[in-house]
Amino acid sequence: MSRVPAHWLIKRLRSVWRRWSLWGMLVALVVAMLVTLVWLAGRYEASVVQDQLERDAADAVADIRSALARNVLSLQALQSGSSDAVLWESQAQALLRERREIVRIEWRTPTMRLQAFANSPFHAIAWTSDARAEPHSETTLACTNARRLSGPAYSSSYFQPHGDGMGSELIELCLPPSATDRRGSYLVATYSLQGLLTEMVGKGLTRRQEVSFTEADGTRLALVGAARRSAYLFSARQLLDLPGTTMLLRMDGWHAAPSLFPNVLTALVTAMSIALVTVLVVLVRDNRRRLQAERDLGDAFAFRKAMEDSLVTGLRARDLQGRITYVNPAFCEMVGFSAQELLGQSTNAPYWPPELAEEYWRRQAVRLAGNAPPREGFESVFMRKDGTRFPVLIIEAPLINAVGQHTGWMSAFIDISEQRRVEELSRASQERLQATARLAMVGEMASLLSHELNQPLAAISSYATGSLNLLEQARDADDTHLRADLDEVRTAIGRVAQQAERAGRVIKSVHDFVRRRDQAREAVPAQELLGDVLPLVNLQARKLGVRVEVEVEPDLPPAHCDRVMIEQVLLNLARNAMQAMDDPSIRQRTLQIRVRRAAFNAHSAWLEFTLIDGGVGIDEDTARRLFTPFFTTRAEGMGLGLSLCRTVVEQHGGFLGHRAHHPRGTVFTFTLPAAPQEGPD
Ligand code: ADP
Repeated sequence: MSRVPAHWLIKRLRSVWRRWSLWGMLVALVVAMLVTLVWLAGRYEASVVQDQLERDAADAVADIRSALARNVLSLQALQSGSSDAVLWESQAQALLRERREIVRIEWRTPTMRLQAFANSPFHAIAWTSDARAEPHSETTLACTNARRLSGPAYSSSYFQPHGDGMGSELIELCLPPSATDRRGSYLVATYSLQGLLTEMVGKGLTRRQEVSFTEADGTRLALVGAARRSAYLFSARQLLDLPGTTMLLRMDGWHAAPSLFPNVLTALVTAMSIALVTVLVVLVRDNRRRLQAERDLGDAFAFRKAMEDSLVTGLRARDLQGRITYVNPAFCEMVGFSAQELLGQSTNAPYWPPELAEEYWRRQAVRLAGNAPPREGFESVFMRKDGTRFPVLIIEAPLINAVGQHTGWMSAFIDISEQRRVEELSRASQERLQATARLAMVGEMASLLSHELNQPLAAISSYATGSLNLLEQARDADDTHLRADLDEVRTAIGRVAQQAERAGRVIKSVHDFVRRRDQAREAVPAQELLGDVLPLVNLQARKLGVRVEVEVEPDLPPAHCDRVMIEQVLLNLARNAMQAMDDPSIRQRTLQIRVRRAAFNAHSAWLEFTLIDGGVGIDEDTARRLFTPFFTTRAEGMGLGLSLCRTVVEQHGGFLGHRAHHPRGTVFTFTLPAAPQEGPD
C-alpha cells in the first residue's frame, strides 16, 4: 500500500488552512465594514432627526413665547382701556374671540375682588359664578409675583375640571396695575395649555410630531399633534421660561422604522461593497475554474505526451520552411538521432542517405510548394546514425492549426524493414515451391518420356538383335568379300544394339532418379501440410476474391507422405479450383478444403483430402482427357498438373478422383495413407 508522507500532508493542510483563513479574514473584514457603515449611517440619520426635532422644539417655544408676548400687549391695552365694566367686558369678549388660547379674562380690584370678567366662547368650562369670585390660589400667587416683578407674571399650571368628568390644565397670567393706572386693578387672563399648543405652535410642527407640556416627571398636561405612527420615538425637551413659572415643552417625533440602508449613499456604498464581494467571488470562481482548466490541460498534455512517447510510429512535424519543429521518441529511436540533433534542421536531414539526398530535396520542394502528398503514403529509404539504410512508409498530411491556418506538415513514419523481410521470406519460399513444382514437372516429363521412349528403344534393340541373328546365319556363305562386309555390318548393328541398350539404361536411370523420392516419406500432420500451402493459396485467393475455408477433423493421425510432393498436389488442386472460379459470372467464390479420416481398419488408416470449388465445373469431354499429359484448356496451362498429381498420389498408394459438385463446381478427392500409429505393446 502506498503511504502519503506525513510532512507532505501537513504542508498541504497548512497551505489549505492559510488560504481559507485569508479568505475568512477578508470576508469578515468586508462584513464588519458593511455593518459599521450601516450602523454609522443609521446613527447619523438618527442624529439628523434628533437635531431637527430639537430645532422644532426650540421654534415651538419661541413661537409660544412671542405669541404670549403679543397677548400681553393686547391684554395690557385692555387693562389700560375703558373703566366701564360693560364696555370692558365687550372688549374682553372681542379679544377672547381673537385669542382662542385664552379661556377667561378677569378684571380684579387691587384687593383682588372680581370687578368684571369675560369667558371664551370656545371653551366649555363650567365656571360657577362664585367659584371665581375669590381669586384662585394660583391667581393670587401670580399676582403677587406680578406686583413684585412689576410686570406680567404667570402661575403654575393647575387642573380645572369641566364638570363633565373632563378638565383642562390652565395657567394664570396676572398683569399688575400699570404705573399710570389710577385704579390699580389687576388683569388676570387664564390660558388653556391645550389652547397654547393648538394656537401658538406652528401647524407645520404639529403635523409631523406631537407637542406637549409635561411636568418634570413626564406627566403630560396638554398635547397636540400627530398620532403615533411607528415604534421609533425621538424626543426633544425645551424649557419655556415665563416670568413666575417655567414649563417643559416636549416634542415627540416618530420616525419610520429605520430602513436597513438609511440613505442613498449608504445603499450605494453597500451595493458597491456587495458588488465588490460578488466580483471577488466570481474572480475566485474564475480563478478556480482556470486552475481546473490548467490542470485538465496539464493532464491532457501529459496524456498526449505519454501517447506520443509510447507510439511505435515515428512522428515528425515540419514548418512551411521545411524546418523540423517536432519529433517523437519513436522517430528518434528509428533513425538513431536525438531530438536536439534533429530539431530546427532544414538542410539535408541527417537521416537522408547521401546518395538519395538530391531526390529527397526535390520531393521536399514539391511538398513545400503546397502539393498534397498521396493519402496512402509513399515508401522511402532512411539512414540510421550508424549508416545502415532501412525502408520506411511515410504518410504526410498538412498541419492545420486551431484557426484553420496551414502551418506545416505532419508526417508519420513506419519502419517497414521487418515487413520487407517477411515479404522477402515468403517470396523466397514461393520461389522455392515453384522451383520444386518445375522440378516435379520436369521429373514427370522425364518419366513420361522414359515410358514413351522405352518401347521404341526396346524395338530398336530387338530389331538389331534380330538383324544380328540373320547376319550370323549368313556367316556360312562362301564369298569372302561378302563375309567381310557382313562382319562390318554386324559390328555396326551390334553397336546400334549397344547404344540402344545404353539409351535404355540412361532413361531407366532418369526414371529411377524421379522415382527415388519414395524414400523421402515421413509422418506429416495434415495441418502442417495445409499450413505450408495456405500462404500461397491465400495469396492467389486474395487476388481472385476467393474465400478459403479449411476444415480438418480433430485427432487425425499424420499422413505418411513425401511432404514436398503432396504440397505440390494440394497446391495444384487448389490453384485449379480457384482458376475454375475466376469467371465474371461467379459471385460466390469459396474454396473448401477438408481433411477427414477415410477407410479405416486394423491394419491401415487413410486420410481423405477434399477440395470443393464452385467453379465452372468439368464437362464430359474434358473429364475424359483430364489426366492426359499436356491436356489443358488454359492458354498459359501446361496440362501436366493433374497427371503429376495422380502420379504422386498413386505412388503413395492413394487414389485421386473427381466428381461434380451441386449446384456447380467440382470436388477433387485424394487419399493418403496415415502414418502407422505406435500403439501400446
Ligand atoms: P493446367 O492447370 O496446366 O491447365 P491441369 O492438368 O492441372 O493443367 O488441368 C487440366 C485441365 O483440367 C485444366 O485446363 C482445366 O480445364 C481442367 N480442370 C482442372 N481442375 C479443374 C476444376 N477444379 N474445375 C474445372 N476444370 C478443371
